[in-house]
Amino acid sequence: MLDAIIIGAGPAGISASLYLKRGNKDVLVLYHGESQLEKAHKIDNFYGFPNGISGKDLYNNGINQARNLGIDVIDSEVIDIKIDNNIFTVKTIDKDYQARSIVIATGNKKIKPNIQNLDKYEGLGVSYCAICDGFFYRKKKVCVIGNDNYALAEANDLKNVTDDITILTNGLELKKETDFKVDTRKIKSLGGNEVLEYVEFEDGTRLETRGVFIALGVAGGVDFAKKLGILVNGENIKTDENMKTNIDGIYATGNISGGLLQINKACYEGAKAAIDIIKYLNNDK
Ligand SMILES: Cc1cc2nc3c(=O)[nH]c(=O)nc-3n(C[C@H](O)[C@H](O)[C@H](O)COP(=O)(O)OP(=O)(O)OC[C@H]3O[C@@H](n4cnc5c(N)ncnc54)[C@H](O)[C@@H]3O)c2cc1C
Repeated sequence: MLDAIIIGAGPAGISASLYLKRGNKDVLVLYHGESQLEKAHKIDNFYGFPNGISGKDLYNNGINQARNLGIDVIDSEVIDIKIDNNIFTVKTIDKDYQARSIVIATGNKKIKPNIQNLDKYEGLGVSYCAICDGFFYRKKKVCVIGNDNYALAEANDLKNVTDDITILTNGLELKKETDFKVDTRKIKSLGGNEVLEYVEFEDGTRLETRGVFIALGVAGGVDFAKKLGILVNGENIKTDENMKTNIDGIYATGNISGGLLQINKACYEGAKAAIDIIKYLNNDK
């Protein structure tokens, strides 16, 4: 049992890990997929680098700094978080980990496919969370758009409500073998009267469906939040001034909490969350 699991190895996640480790807590950092920081060609507005630094170097330096302090920083994709009696189980594609607190520091990348009418049917057939909305599609035909672990995890959640599930890769190669039905054709648009009734492919043919669940790339912070009943505001997770969400023991830091999307703010929030988690774990609150 760990004291804290941090999802994300960007400035927000790594800063939280440094403060937690130095507060004598057992902490694990999990990361997978690109950080926003890696995309930054050159950072010139962060303290201490007179000639600037590339985002990639700063990202790797952060990970190495944590590892040098004895923190496990592991590349493993998180696909789900479960809560049971204030204990959190973080499920990755490799194994499950348990902790008494969680920091969601996944950044705020949201991959939306370029499909006509996607926004029009949001809430009328288009969903971003199988466990939240699956119930509305009991015994109906549904599709999951995605091509990797996250899409298959969402499809598995839907098995509780329906047997008729198709994975639509939207022209991408399916990265994992699966028993689900798979259609790799590129999607042009969604259609239906009032609610979603079909997906139309670029070759002009249609697939009847009542629900389309978007699960591209890796699961993001808001995806986890929605499943857990954490309050969100659009693509951001709501927190208090200590970065705590509405669930005790779960914090959200960095780009995922919205506001100024900058490294300084991500570092500050990582530190702030860690200090509050230390109090929470020590029963000082
Ligand atoms: C082109 C560009 C230029 C920028 N320039 C600047 C600049 O000059 N100055 C500045 O201050 N800011 C700049 N930024 C913004 C800055 O990069 C971000 O504000 C900062 O990286 C946010 O940090 P974060 O820790 O919240 O998220 P990120 O750095 O995005 O890190 C997210 C982490 O979460 C992990 N992750 C996500 N999902 C999962 C999952 N399911 N399982 C496991 N791990 C997961 C990722 O692997 C990654 O480690 C720039 C951004 C871009 C895109």
